[in-house]
Amino acid sequence: MEVDSSTRFSFSKLDTYKGCPRRYRYRYVDKIVRERRTVETFLGECVHGALEELYGRLQHGKTSSLDEILAVFGAKWKAGWSPEIVIHDKALSADDFKRVGEDCLRTYFGAHAPFSDDRSHEVEKKLGLSLAVDVDGTALECRIEGYLDRLSFPKEEPEAVEIHDYKTGGHLPTQEVVDANFQFDVYDLLVRSQYPRTKEVRVLLHYLRFNRVLSPSRDPRLDQTAKTRAVLESLIRSVRRDHAWEPHKSQLCDWCEYRDICPLWAHVEKVKALSSAAARKDDGVRLVDELGGLEEKKKDLKDELRRLEKVEEGLRALIFDYAGALMAAEGEKTFVVSGTEGEAVVSEKEELKFPTKTHAPDRLRELEGLLKDMAVWRDVSRVDTGLLVEGAKARRWDPEVLRAVEALIERFGRLVREKHLRFRRKKGEEEPG
Ligand code: SF4
Repeated sequence: MEVDSSTRFSFSKLDTYKGCPRRYRYRYVDKIVRERRTVETFLGECVHGALEELYGRLQHGKTSSLDEILAVFGAKWKAGWSPEIVIHDKALSADDFKRVGEDCLRTYFGAHAPFSDDRSHEVEKKLGLSLAVDVDGTALECRIEGYLDRLSFPKEEPEAVEIHDYKTGGHLPTQEVVDANFQFDVYDLLVRSQYPRTKEVRVLLHYLRFNRVLSPSRDPRLDQTAKTRAVLESLIRSVRRDHAWEPHKSQLCDWCEYRDICPLWAHVEKVKALSSAAARKDDGVRLVDELGGLEEKKKDLKDELRRLEKVEEGLRALIFDYAGALMAAEGEKTFVVSGTEGEAVVSEKEELKFPTKTHAPDRLRELEGLLKDMAVWRDVSRVDTGLLVEGAKARRWDPEVLRAVEALIERFGRLVREKHLRFRRKKGEEEPG
């Protein structure tokens, strides 16, 4: 079983784990190197490189003109471009993306030249801190590291530090999304630990395509650094405990460099590369197509069954009416209606119905609340093992309770390996009912 024994983590490494544990395993545990780069990543690298040059020169007291920085960008583009770089949007060309990069730099110059607001800058700054993480009773000395696009020290505020992060993507997030982004909490923590005398850390996110600067807002009353440390510790614990590295399907899969080996995509990718004649001969395609045909037939039969059930419902109602009139007249509770092949026994009885989880869950909770205070609760309540396991997985309880629950699960739970198969139609086709 593959385990991760690393003790050095960055935000992007932990974010990879959060997005998909399997991708994390391929990249950081198995160390499978893939050169696949997208044009968006390449564009970001070239713009970052040009801005690094601009601020690098400023550190040495040299200013640069827009033309000089555009020339740096152009040189980086020319040197780095390769036909292997992936352009997902077939309506756009490499030149379109190059123009986007140049526009980003022009807009940035328009808004910030002559770049004299700050006392000093540090570009592509690597910061790090130590973090002791308790993993199942063992104290693990970890290192958290991060590269910051630029740090600046405002002239008028000697105790403030600004973190600048440059975004070249074509999507402007909402303020809520910016506020929820953990990356900036990690940056904040790194800066505060490197510059302990800093009173204020401001994060400025430059969305260059939109000429907008967004900043995450934080509640000043909360100890953000303690919270950030706790989240980092919890993430590292999850990484170190993981043995399964479950693949997590999401939009990220579209950009993932490991689709050809990922169990969720490997066969999809293989079939995509085949001609339609060759694909039809593939054993997997053949079997799943056969299953798809069966599912289609089952769907037709189920539709027919539903239609028959509707007819049956109408017939039953008519028989109830027929027998009901006679039963009411005679005050009977049972009546048999005879046919040539069989008979229908109509009866009337009273039953107690209670609220359920699906129908009237609030009333069910109210009933449970009242019963819990009564001595009968022990006799009438049942253990919901599904909820027990779910609660333990979500670490819903205090550590002491959680340990006791985990011990019970280990003692009474039996791990059984079962295979499941679920057929689903590809996008654009109707899912069978
Ligand atoms: S393709 Fe998707 S599920 Fe598979 S490793 Fe990549 S991100 Fe994870």
